[in-house]
Amino acid sequence: MTEKCGVVGVSLDGRDAARPLYYALYALQHRGQESAGIVTHDGFQQHSHVDMGLVGDVFDADDLETLNGSAGIGHVRYPTAGSVDSSCAQPFSVSFKSGSLGLSHNGNLVNADEIREELAAVGHAFTSDGDTEVIAHDLARNLLEEDLVRAVKHTMSRIHGSYALTISHDDTVLGVRDPQGNRPLCIGKLEDGYILASESAAIDTLDGELVRDVRPGELVVLDDDGAGFDSYQLVETENTAHCFFEHVYFARPDSIIDEQLVYEARRNLGRKLWEESGVETDVVMPVPDSGRAFASGYADAASETTADGELRADEDDGVEFAEGLMKNRYVGRTFIMPTQDERERAVRLKLNPIKSTIEGKTVTVIDDSIVRGTTSMQLVQLLKDCGAEEVHVRIGAPEIVAPCYMGIDMATREELIASDKSTAEIRDTIGADSLSYLSTDAVADVLGKERIDLCLGCVTGEYPYDIEGEETDRDVSRPELEGRTLHADD
Ligand code: SF4
Repeated sequence: MTEKCGVVGVSLDGRDAARPLYYALYALQHRGQESAGIVTHDGFQQHSHVDMGLVGDVFDADDLETLNGSAGIGHVRYPTAGSVDSSCAQPFSVSFKSGSLGLSHNGNLVNADEIREELAAVGHAFTSDGDTEVIAHDLARNLLEEDLVRAVKHTMSRIHGSYALTISHDDTVLGVRDPQGNRPLCIGKLEDGYILASESAAIDTLDGELVRDVRPGELVVLDDDGAGFDSYQLVETENTAHCFFEHVYFARPDSIIDEQLVYEARRNLGRKLWEESGVETDVVMPVPDSGRAFASGYADAASETTADGELRADEDDGVEFAEGLMKNRYVGRTFIMPTQDERERAVRLKLNPIKSTIEGKTVTVIDDSIVRGTTSMQLVQLLKDCGAEEVHVRIGAPEIVAPCYMGIDMATREELIASDKSTAEIRDTIGADSLSYLSTDAVADVLGKERIDLCLGCVTGEYPYDIEGEETDRDVSRPELEGRTLHADD
């Protein structure tokens, strides 16, 4: 599974925005490593620097010097819609009759092709196959006839899918979250201005203060002088569709998303995992680093109650928490290994067990997800080779049974081990003595939401958007496009 894009926007009182944007992008690097970019505006013209690579490689001091202006937006990207090349790197920037626009998008539209076709038919020329350019063209067209707020509202009535956007329109910076709030976006206050960012960790990096999340369907317009912001609730929906995987996997543990510290949410998911499927073993250990918070919550709950839910007696120490697997941080991600054989080798390179914490013991190993099953299979084998008597696997999320259409590259249905195998079959495939996942109800409970207010598409196969050939869990449909008649030069 790969994270999908981080967005940021800042508006400051006189100070150049480039460096704060650069530091914020560093804080969001975990959300995308394919490309990085910054677009600023100095009141007269737009400046842009976008390239393939990590933030530290994309910008040098000279690049930052040329990005003038106290307002700007930034983006780190892992490819979702669109091809894997620089034409899809963001922010997307362009100048129209209606002014210059920069756009950073996290998410994925499900009706981008329909809108692109409609706009292309009236003369709009597209330079990429990404959905961000579709939003930019649509917005630019609306800005010919409407003020900024109406133009954004008009575009929101036409696009369908998942989006958290930061936008620069000349030197005005704005942020929008889709009506279901699928992707996170929050507002922060800086010493001399305001920031919009995918995660609050970016605000912390700039010594800022988290103000609040951007609400689903809300447009936030930052003041040009950094003094404040205006809010417009442009669309209201009955239910939200927050991506639960942000809390489980994508976001940094030190970020606060939808008013919850991600680390605490993961620990609480771990506690639930013990309540639902705890097993008494000698030792419990995380798969580093993804399973750490879950394992710590699981072990905490295990020290209080037995697997049967009884309070532990004073002399009963419960389950020992240990770091039994060491991670080599310099090995590439397993998913970029082209063959199955290489992928398997990479797991051995990536994790090294500490024999003394494993040998002769019954072990519970905790992770946040199983995608293809390859890693889990290798891991169980590794622990058994190391002398573990039993290996029990616990997962802090439900089974992933279906792909994500909202911007997360997780794998195709055929590649997902849980799409056609029962938990018992997966347990046998990975060679574990037992395997349990967390229930979707437990996830909703820990996140303090009704199930219908979460996107659970990849674990239920029912999505919160109208996706061709897929089921939906709510009353949604794609917007009817009104058919554009204006000429592109209008
Ligand atoms: S399908 Fe899964 S990963 Fe994608 S948005 Fe929904 S919950 Fe998140």
